[in-house]
Amino acid sequence: MRPRIAVIGSGPAGLAFARVLHRHGHPVTVLERDPGRDARPAGGTLDLHEGLGQLALEKAGVLAEFQALSRPEGQAMRILDADGTVLRDWQPRPGDRANPEIDRGQLRDLLLGPLDVQWGRDVTQVAPQSRDGVLVHFADGRQKTFDLVIGADGAWSRVRPAVSSATPQYTGVTLVESSLDDIDTRHPDLARLVGDGSVAVYGVNRALVAQRNSGGHVKVYAQFRVPLDWHTNPDRQTGANQRAGLGLTDVEAVRSSLLALFDGWAAPVLDLLRHSTAFVHRPLYTLPVSHTWAHVSGVTLLGDAAHLMPPLGAGANLALLEGAELAESIAAAPGPGDLDEAVRAFEEQMWARAGKWANITMAGLERLVSPDPSEALALFDEVQPS
Ligand SMILES: Cc1cc2nc3c(=O)[nH]c(=O)nc-3n(C[C@H](O)[C@H](O)[C@H](O)COP(=O)(O)OP(=O)(O)OC[C@H]3O[C@@H](n4cnc5c(N)ncnc54)[C@H](O)[C@@H]3O)c2cc1C
Repeated sequence: MRPRIAVIGSGPAGLAFARVLHRHGHPVTVLERDPGRDARPAGGTLDLHEGLGQLALEKAGVLAEFQALSRPEGQAMRILDADGTVLRDWQPRPGDRANPEIDRGQLRDLLLGPLDVQWGRDVTQVAPQSRDGVLVHFADGRQKTFDLVIGADGAWSRVRPAVSSATPQYTGVTLVESSLDDIDTRHPDLARLVGDGSVAVYGVNRALVAQRNSGGHVKVYAQFRVPLDWHTNPDRQTGANQRAGLGLTDVEAVRSSLLALFDGWAAPVLDLLRHSTAFVHRPLYTLPVSHTWAHVSGVTLLGDAAHLMPPLGAGANLALLEGAELAESIAAAPGPGDLDEAVRAFEEQMWARAGKWANITMAGLERLVSPDPSEALALFDEVQPS
């Protein structure tokens, strides 16, 4: 009898897991809360690293397709001063495929391939050690039992409470995401400013980053240190909100708050905010840096559900690789009785690697959104190839 395996969530972790397991001929049930693949915007571009995300795609058998779709030119990175002076301008070398970019939606479609995702399955709770295995509860009242349940359901995982009492904590940094469409035609000056990859400007406790996606789409990320309730309480220190009760759905009110926050910055940089279309509020949360748990038979976690960290280019990469590695370990287990040991060994490996990256990204966030903007530049000088 093949073990009944379910993965909750069809993000990078869940899809990499399911795709690799499927490649090894194992049946797997993918349960996703979204009602369909295009139910919400897929999000911004992701850079996939050679030894992490790209390795996972190789294990999934889709590396060649990734190479055809991804944008190595997206590795370009320009840093400006708040007055618009170019401080750094890194261009990838010809043939450099260390960290090419791919749109999140393209990555999802690449991994979905032959998988049969069950959409609209909102998991509310997972109960291990029930009579016949692990019991999964859904919001519509249904229940289903599996031998192994993988929680790949992101930051606010409903699977996590089955193994750990940890909950994400606010980092003190909020990100407001907006975007520009058709930038090359509609805003050619801004298109030149952003270039093929990213442009970033770092100030005191705030930063503005714009990143090119495919098809002339650009995501703009305003990042700043504020209390979590910055939009409901005036905050004189940052000037982020000059009046109480800012409605986050009021586009023009958010825009003027952000323009006030970045007041005095060069006009072309502020134009990124002036011309962007919608604003998405993303306070940054993290799990404890070395989040582990006492192994629970029949349940484990992958990706953000296991180790939510600041978005500094590691989260999706780790999620993909963990998904692929766990699937390979399960496929290599000699029999159903060996499944638990395979999962236990995988967890140890995941915790060690994720702990390292959690430390790196937490320290990185401190330096990128810092009282001393020269810290951000120093960080890039350390990590960019000279
Ligand atoms: C602005 C930003 C930029 C980023 N840039 C990068 C980058 O360049 N490189 C990088 O490596 N990482 C990046 N990250 C981090 C990356 O997005 C995450 O680490 C990654 O998406 C985690 O993948 P995941 O599969 O674990 O979770 P998710 O991508 O969050 O996927 C979870 C899935 O589970 C589903 N789900 C949630 N709850 C339930 C439920 N109750 N029942 C059923 N399904 C459920 C969700 O709908 C979703 O489909 C960035 C993050 C942000 C916010």
